[in-house]
Amino acid sequence: MGFAITEPDAGSDTASASTLGVFRGEEIVINGSKVMIGNGSVADFLLVFCLTDPDAERKSKRHSIVVVEADREGFEADKITGKMGLRASNTANIFFSNVRIPRENLVGRRGEGFYQLMQFFDRSRAYVAAHGVGLAQGALDLAIDHVKTREQFGQKIASFQVTQFKIAEMATRIELARTLTYRACLSADSGKPDTKLVAMAQWAAARTAVEVVDEALQLHGGYGYMNDHDIERAGTIDSDAVVAELEKTDRMGAIGRIRFNKGHQVIYGQDPNETAMGCMVQWRKPGKRVVVYPPNIAEAKIQLPEGLKPAK
Ligand SMILES: Cc1cc2nc3c(=O)[nH]c(=O)nc-3n(C[C@H](O)[C@H](O)[C@H](O)COP(=O)(O)OP(=O)(O)OC[C@H]3O[C@@H](n4cnc5c(N)ncnc54)[C@H](O)[C@@H]3O)c2cc1C
Repeated sequence: MGFAITEPDAGSDTASASTLGVFRGEEIVINGSKVMIGNGSVADFLLVFCLTDPDAERKSKRHSIVVVEADREGFEADKITGKMGLRASNTANIFFSNVRIPRENLVGRRGEGFYQLMQFFDRSRAYVAAHGVGLAQGALDLAIDHVKTREQFGQKIASFQVTQFKIAEMATRIELARTLTYRACLSADSGKPDTKLVAMAQWAAARTAVEVVDEALQLHGGYGYMNDHDIERAGTIDSDAVVAELEKTDRMGAIGRIRFNKGHQVIYGQDPNETAMGCMVQWRKPGKRVVVYPPNIAEAKIQLPEGLKPAK
């Protein structure tokens, strides 16, 4: 499955989405296009954010979310190639040409799509935060391995105090991001996600990933550029970290709208293992696996560090 929200002219400004969903008797007819959709050309079905009530006075009341099966007539998906990173994840542009779906494919209530979307972001941002923490931790692990083995000036580069300071700073930043991410996930699991906290976690963890990966690359020197070193994937890792930051505008909005949407029903739109938004929470390397977020947020049991208990 996937979640099709973004359009050529509606990125951060989701409420401007113009893919039309017209109610006709017992059917809804969809026309329009979506871009950069995770799982777009492999999904059996997509949740599609579409404009169903263009005349509603409030912009936030104009959209609905519907389920569109990929084998419906008029549905087309073009896989995007040439991404900077996240290449293991399928991304596609989607086209709807008079796609007819039964009315029962409407998710929740008509005109509530924007609110559902904001509630979904309250959760998906927590996945993205976990993504950032995992990327940063993986990069730090590789950097530590490298500085402990690489020798210059007759000694391991780990023995230089400036290297130790860098490692300590990277580790501290990751711990800060991880703690905030755990708190955000706890709030998401409580059933009433704290919009502000989750948005903060996404921002902090994504920023941490960018900074830590950059520092890890520097610590590898020129070898960081060569593909016989794991950190070479940092070209990808770094771009993944940048992707994790993409939602910046909405997220900042979310931080500023603490009370927004509290009390609304929560929709689970994505399985983080299957979509671009919540993807790749885990960092793997030979003999080591750091899991920073459980695979299914819908049944999330946060793996807290030893001794840390969920707040009542
Ligand atoms: C790998 C990948 C996977 C994706 N998967 C999905 C998916 O599964 N489903 C989906 O629907 N979408 C998906 N997207 C799209 C993603 O959600 C959008 O790229 C994102 O929402 C940003 O929209 P945009 O690219 O149109 O950028 P824009 O909205 O055009 O933003 C461009 C820049 O302008 C800034 N900006 C925009 N508005 C403001 C403002 N008001 N104030 C200040 N700055 C502003 C932004 O912060 C950004 O820096 C994916 C994208 C990528 C790269």
